Amino acid sequence: MTGFRELFGREPDGRWAAPGRVNLIGEHVDYAQGLCLPFAIAERTVVEVAARDDDRVRLHSLAEQDSWSGTIDEVAPRSPDGWAGYAAGVLWALRQAGHKIGGIDLLVTDTVPLGAGLSSSAALECSTALAVDELFGLGLGGTPSGRRALAAACISAENDVVGAATGGMDQATSLLGVAGHALLLDMRDGTDRAVPFAPADDGLALMVIDTRVRHRLADGQYGMRRAAVEKAAAALGRPSLRDATLAEVTTLDPDLVPRARHIVTEIARVRETVELLDAGRLPEIGPLLDASHASLAHDYEVSCDELDLACSAARRAGALGARMTGGGFGGSAIALVPVEQEDAVASEVRAAFAEARYREPEIRGAQPSAGAERVG
Ligand code: ADP
Ligand code: MG
Repeated sequence: MTGFRELFGREPDGRWAAPGRVNLIGEHVDYAQGLCLPFAIAERTVVEVAARDDDRVRLHSLAEQDSWSGTIDEVAPRSPDGWAGYAAGVLWALRQAGHKIGGIDLLVTDTVPLGAGLSSSAALECSTALAVDELFGLGLGGTPSGRRALAAACISAENDVVGAATGGMDQATSLLGVAGHALLLDMRDGTDRAVPFAPADDGLALMVIDTRVRHRLADGQYGMRRAAVEKAAAALGRPSLRDATLAEVTTLDPDLVPRARHIVTEIARVRETVELLDAGRLPEIGPLLDASHASLAHDYEVSCDELDLACSAARRAGALGARMTGGGFGGSAIALVPVEQEDAVASEVRAAFAEARYREPEIRGAQPSAGAERVG
């Protein structure tokens, strides 16, 4: 295996790790200034990094088996393209924000599974950001407000350099996650609060079922949903649908009603979920997960046959609740399952997928874990 010394001719100054995330509930509401409730997971991306005294950035990823080398000032929208943009983009964004940083040598050793809807992109950005923060003495990694500033640089890297639209949930979760908790993120005022979420304490597991499909209509449909939501807010004379009521929603153009209804009911479901979790009633959130899925499938129309099947098979085998998570049209579903039913749920989902002649899904448990940290 390629090591740091072999690649760069010296030892790294340290190692930094940042987790992926799963969104428990609050889907497709970030661009409506809504509420979402993600948690950081145990799967992590680890970077080994050494500071340089010039402006050069040298990057290597074991997962991608690829290197990139350039200077921070060479980084620009869509350049470098590919994976290097996520890491180099963070340095570019920190410099854009006025921070005094130099170049680095960086090796990505471990990784959150790529493209599984667990946000490997944010994990790469956030581990890089925390390393740069410490190596150049920016002093941001030690406080929540500083970490929010690092998250902003990571978001800019993904939006402005890579050119992928990200609402910021992934980066906030990776940097601010708390073990045994989910994070209530308010997408209107940028605040967050840790909410107790430790399924194992109640004899439960949160399973992630990666359908391993990604339907091609995803990107175009995302833009159309977003446009519909903005149109609905404008028609109601509101800055967003955050405070819209169901009564108002029924006055909209008929084609906008289901889209707006998803936003309004989903934000309400996040509030109800948080109330239950705060009250120590985690096992009761199942019906809210089911209702979220129904709303995403029927009102918002962003599910697909594979996601619907993953949820129905999981429920059939004893899940307390199940829903698609992430943007939809493929990707992953989650299921809240009594620990003793975990194997039965996994078998039922696998059997249902085999019967339908779908690709074999990848099934794993997700542990609510801490945010990014130095690990060596
Ligand atoms: P997700 O964030 O859900 O995993 P994305 O498409 O947003 O999916 O991000 C995946 C991309 O992030 C990869 O295709 C790659 O370009 C980059 N990436 C993530 N982790 C790594 C890694 N360990 N090494 C190199 N590139 C990575
Ligand atoms: Mg991503």
